[in-house]
Amino acid sequence: MTHDPDCLFCKIVAGKIPSRKAYEDERVLAFHDIHPWAPVHLLIIPKQHIATMSDLGDEHAGLLGHMALLAPRLMQEQGVTNGFRTVINTGPDGGQEVYHLHMHVMGGPRPWVKA
Ligand code: 5GP
Ligand code: ZN
Repeated sequence: MTHDPDCLFCKIVAGKIPSRKAYEDERVLAFHDIHPWAPVHLLIIPKQHIATMSDLGDEHAGLLGHMALLAPRLMQEQGVTNGFRTVINTGPDGGQEVYHLHMHVMGGPRPWVKA
């Protein structure tokens, strides 16, 4: 499995930087975003270092499917019952700040959002 010693999320995978974990298996880790945009804001990341969505190949289809299928399951575990948003930022124009692939999953009631 590839790791980048200078990558923030690789350090979180390795336990060198602490995180509030929500889920872990051999392929992925899910943890709470340090600056949540919603009452429940998880980041689902592959344990292997893949910088961006643009670096994915056909061999990663199963991994991406696994991440996508985890989103509703983890939201349910977190008590989110009324829907959630999933976002993957890619590259400078996509607003990506951390160059280790991650899926934002945001849920929970947002009283400040107008109906
Ligand atoms: P991006 O803009 O790359 O899609 O999102 C990166 C996300 O990582 C941001 O929402 C930011 O709050 C989160 N983040 C950055 N550093 C840390 C950290 O050290 N721990 C955690 N849990 N989240 C982080
Ligand atoms: Zn990494």
